[in-house]
Amino acid sequence: MTSNRNADISMKDTDISGISDRLRGAGLRPTRQRLSLAHLLFSKGNRHISAEALHEEALNADMSVSLATVYNTLHQFNEAGLLRAVAIDSAKTYFDTNTSHHHHFYIEDENRVVDVPASHINVTDLPSPPEGMEIARVDVIVRLREKS
Ligand SMILES: [Zn+2]
Repeated sequence: MTSNRNADISMKDTDISGISDRLRGAGLRPTRQRLSLAHLLFSKGNRHISAEALHEEALNADMSVSLATVYNTLHQFNEAGLLRAVAIDSAKTYFDTNTSHHHHFYIEDENRVVDVPASHINVTDLPSPPEGMEIARVDVIVRLREKS
């Protein structure tokens, strides 16, 4: 008999080994804790999640892990290119499991991040970067609020 609960959170072995390889490539040991967090993160399709929300999910999945560890792990995954940090302001960062190039709407009243396809925003007339520098990427966050 198969359990739906397990089916929902299971990842393909190839995904897990892909994540292990990428962690190793970034100089990170694929520990059980890192792989469990990766499993939680990536088994639900593309999403934007805060460290607090992932911590909550980890606790609900009976993982004993501190918020600080979740936070550090997310930043390590960001460094490894497994996800993309979307910094809304100095106090609020979301982690995006979709690492392809795109922009975001941020709905202020709901603390919600929504994807905007890269092709929908044209960024032109950028200033020349200082000598010896190049533009790595331009991320646009369009902040939304209810019409007053
Ligand atoms: Zn996104």
